[in-house]
Amino acid sequence: MKAVAVTPGKTGSVRIIDLPKPNPTGAQALLRIDKIGIDGTDLEINQGAYGEAPSGSDYLISGHECLATVEEVPKNSAGIEKGDLVVPTVRRPDDCLNCRNGESDMCLTGQYKEHGIKGLHGFCSEYSVSDLNFLVRIPEKLGHLAVLLEPMSVAEKAVLQSFKIQERMIWKPKRALVLGAGPLGLLTTILLRTKGLDVTTIATRLGGEYVNSIDQPINSLGSFDLILEETGAASIAAEAQALLNPNGILCFLGIYPAKEASLDIGHLYTDIVLGNKTTFGSVNANIRYFVRGLEDIAIVQQRFRGVLESLFTKVVPPSEFLRAYNPSKDEIKSVIEFRA
Ligand SMILES: [Zn+2]
Repeated sequence: MKAVAVTPGKTGSVRIIDLPKPNPTGAQALLRIDKIGIDGTDLEINQGAYGEAPSGSDYLISGHECLATVEEVPKNSAGIEKGDLVVPTVRRPDDCLNCRNGESDMCLTGQYKEHGIKGLHGFCSEYSVSDLNFLVRIPEKLGHLAVLLEPMSVAEKAVLQSFKIQERMIWKPKRALVLGAGPLGLLTTILLRTKGLDVTTIATRLGGEYVNSIDQPINSLGSFDLILEETGAASIAAEAQALLNPNGILCFLGIYPAKEASLDIGHLYTDIVLGNKTTFGSVNANIRYFVRGLEDIAIVQQRFRGVLESLFTKVVPPSEFLRAYNPSKDEIKSVIEFRA
């Protein structure tokens, strides 16, 4: 079978390789891949920034945003059958307390594995395997959108965790700010709109470069009850803190390159204290957030029909995978389609 693979640590190594069809073992299902979404993590792995091949392999099959059809599956209590449309989650647990209790996204040790990223092959191949306990069944009518479920699950976790933390008091948020207008930023924006918030979304990426927040200040936007920082630009992240209303909450979702800055940390900490403000980080998502994300995709589809479809700006066959790995500046979501 054909697979799209990289050599972790090597710049620009993405290529098509020929492999035997994988053999599912134990509680694994064999998946026939329909679609793979490509995101910033895939591009960064291809730039050699990170990525880890499975032990004993010198390549890593890429792809963690996946929609697939179950080809073979052992008898199971989850009711997953041959022919079902499914989305596999990305992270697989180790044996830490949180992982053992279904919260691999909150892993204590960092010894988890991630399909297509860390220690497990991804799904960007004609066939793949996944533990059947990490498959989310997709209703037929949402099949054309479900390759967005993985990024949606990340948005879902950030938003649900924000609201969960804010149960610490009476909190009726009105204004939200989303920094970053890539697929994750747009999905977060849409999700917050379904919750009735007035959302401001800032595109900070022009021509693949982050605009320096000094050139384009974000402090002219007013103040917000909830801020989700998804640009990965440390200077913007630092400025965002000042835009919180009293009792507000700020969630960081980027990976921030090293950045030296001089900040008035005294004033910053006092502002956090006197305003009862909270800042937290959120990464990955366990299967509960995939399930909630799927429910919200159905709600978005009812309320804002056509919006999710409009995120797909490029769909290519596997033979043209390089087009998906070289997005233009106005690209939102590129998809490699194995089966229409
Ligand atoms: Zn763990």
